[in-house]
Amino acid sequence: MTDTQLDSPIVATVPFDKDGIHHGFLRLPYSRDDSAWGSIMIPLTVVRNGEGPTALLTGGNHGDEYEGPVALFGLAQELDPLDVSGCVIIVPAMNYPAFRAATRTSPIDRGNMNRIFPGRPDGTVTEKIADYFQRVLLPMCDIVLDFHSGGKTLDFIPFAAAHVLPDPVQEEKCFSAVKAFGAPYSLKMVEIDSRGMFDTAIEEMGKVFVTTELGGGGTVSARTAEIARQGVRNVLRHVGILAGEVVTSPTQWLDMPGDESFVFAEQDGLLEMCVDLEASVKKGQTIARIHTIDRTGVAPTRILAPCDGILIARHFPGLIKMGDCVASFGVVIEDL
Ligand SMILES: [Zn+2]
Repeated sequence: MTDTQLDSPIVATVPFDKDGIHHGFLRLPYSRDDSAWGSIMIPLTVVRNGEGPTALLTGGNHGDEYEGPVALFGLAQELDPLDVSGCVIIVPAMNYPAFRAATRTSPIDRGNMNRIFPGRPDGTVTEKIADYFQRVLLPMCDIVLDFHSGGKTLDFIPFAAAHVLPDPVQEEKCFSAVKAFGAPYSLKMVEIDSRGMFDTAIEEMGKVFVTTELGGGGTVSARTAEIARQGVRNVLRHVGILAGEVVTSPTQWLDMPGDESFVFAEQDGLLEMCVDLEASVKKGQTIARIHTIDRTGVAPTRILAPCDGILIARHFPGLIKMGDCVASFGVVIEDL
């Protein structure tokens, strides 16, 4: 850190460099009407034992996505430090104000954690959290697993993913970790806009990074919770932090054909999906209809598949607004 950079106002209440398991908080001072000297207390567990790599495991980057928090609150309870070689830093609900409000973004500043990196030490609450991850937690880590799912407005097939990167060695390490995660689908992911993402901050630091999309709709299913639980342990085994072999499961690899992967609504209305998640579609096939809701007697607008592929994501609520993402598609590939 240079002299011109401010220290983060966030303080960890447990050590990162002591062996054992430590449950505590990232404490962020937040002075407000109902608590003059109050703080936001972001749950944190640090498990360290001897020599080995450091993994950072995060959920609740978006506050209405639950597979990550379910898997990580569970892991923090279940991990025995004697089974660990190295260090595991667990933050089950990164954007904690958003998680408590069950909203994608923070109710305090509307901050979207995954669009706000590198953050600012003297910024809004969400910017301060991002800055702490950027300058304190990420430099400690060798690998980061950040859980996402669709939240209240999207639903996804369950997949782990990494991005195509300029450094082929780093990219290979990321995709090996995706394979180890062992979700039913594994994706070479394309972002609509990667600027400000946690993903991008991690990758630019040269770290190994795995993300997921595991369902959605603002809840968690038994199937996706189990995928998350097994996936996080597999990644820890893969990097040697936990002993034992990765529990292998068959995975279908998918690629995303750039901008053709997404379809957006050009009107408000009532959404009727004509195919469900995991369905194979052909380019030009009707995958959804949007019914006009202002009056009767108007034919619905047909939404067509932009490419051959698999339906990997869909708008979740029954009503849709102009500009919403209706659906997203992946193309089957044999392997990497
Ligand atoms: Zn998310």
